[in-house]
Amino acid sequence: MTRATCTECGRHFNRRADEDWKTRCVTCWRASRARADNEADRLRVQLSKAMTEAAILRRQVARLETQTGIPPEMLARLLPLRQEPRGSDVSGLAALMPVRVRQTDEAGR
Ligand SMILES: [Zn+2]
Repeated sequence: MTRATCTECGRHFNRRADEDWKTRCVTCWRASRARADNEADRLRVQLSKAMTEAAILRRQVARLETQTGIPPEMLARLLPLRQEPRGSDVSGLAALMPVRVRQTDEAGR
């Protein structure tokens, strides 16, 4: 064991000779982990809000495209994109396709 000085609070703490990477005492290390956890939680909430907002915007775009009308041949080309992995922008947009196809078909009748 060697004696080291915490880079945050200046208190002394013990560490093994091969633990040069330990630069903080246990108290400061725990506090830094808590800060990192809080930051991760904050980013998770922010991501969730952004994904919700993106879904709302995708629906709005789909509605606007339906109102303006999409050529059926373009829809036929976009439908195979539904095979993209879930969560990608492409699959999100392609997920809206059946609604537009149905609405386009109804509008055409
Ligand atoms: Zn400390």
